Amino acid sequence: MKQMTFGLIGASLKHSFSSDIHNAVFKKLGIKAQYKIFELENKQLKSFLSSAFANSINGLNVTIPYKEKVIPFLTRLDANTPSALTVGAVNTIKVEEKQLIGYNTDGAGFINALNRIERKERAKPFDFRHKVCVLLGAGGAAKAVGFALATEGIAGLHIYDIDYRKSEDLVAEIKSKFPKSAPIALKQRSELEVIRDSQILVNATPIGMKAQDQLIVNEDFLHENLFVFDCVYNPGGRRMTVLVEAARKKGLRAFDGLWMLICQAIRSQKIWFGRAILEDEIFDIMAGALNEKGYSLC
Ligand code: NAP
Repeated sequence: MKQMTFGLIGASLKHSFSSDIHNAVFKKLGIKAQYKIFELENKQLKSFLSSAFANSINGLNVTIPYKEKVIPFLTRLDANTPSALTVGAVNTIKVEEKQLIGYNTDGAGFINALNRIERKERAKPFDFRHKVCVLLGAGGAAKAVGFALATEGIAGLHIYDIDYRKSEDLVAEIKSKFPKSAPIALKQRSELEVIRDSQILVNATPIGMKAQDQLIVNEDFLHENLFVFDCVYNPGGRRMTVLVEAARKKGLRAFDGLWMLICQAIRSQKIWFGRAILEDEIFDIMAGALNEKGYSLC
């Protein structure tokens, strides 16, 4: 069988973990495949994608700043798993003869991460219904998380971004497709006090990627019944992100983005290989590969 080739396209990929986690799976499971890093300039995007099949590429991941920019060059967005259509961004491409099909696995990766954590700790999936979530950020990751939460039937969703217009736009988009989720845009940072009456707090801003980053939320708002999830997975040399650290100091359940990173990568492999894969085994292999690099799941 011919060796398959997968890879990540983006602009600045020196700190990416994707090749480590995917190649670890290929190696451990004896899959004849390689995962490569393709740093591209904007002007190279079209020709790279149009020659992907000719260059024997079977599948790709897409990251900043190309998640939206790749869409005009794809044959279509997958309609059976409509997250790329809903979110308007693609992080996974399946390359088939003459066809490039776009998917988004970030939202499902987020949901699967919370379900995996809940199953590990409480032997049941995460119950999103009857819960209110405060979502920090209204960019790419927040969009995927917001739509995924709405799909899961979240009872309330408050969105706060430093740019209020972005929060308003995301709220309008979610409301138009999932009116029952009743999303609300928060204008002022002080309005984050609503966390006191919420059960889930998700950070989908880049705050936490730098060691010196400060908490966005007032520490007093973090209460014992709050589940905290930080999409950030690389806390700039710290052991944990500023949010996870503050939450854990108060005894809360708090987890970081490595869980989501692995779960969205597993979804990508499912799409590329088009068959049932050994999710638990792959999760452990990917977590092991990150451990070897000095990153452990928080
Ligand atoms: P993005 O598109 O740039 O969105 C981030 C949003 O947060 C922007 O709207 C930004 O506003 C806003 N923001 C920045 N500082 C803020 C603050 N202090 N308070 C409130 N809002 C603030 O970035 P992204 O792609 O969504 O990524 C966000 C984070 O999620 C990154 O750390 C990324 O690595 C992580 N992520 C993790 C996974 C995973 O698998 N774990 C997947 C995707 C993303 P401005 O644009 O005005 O600055």
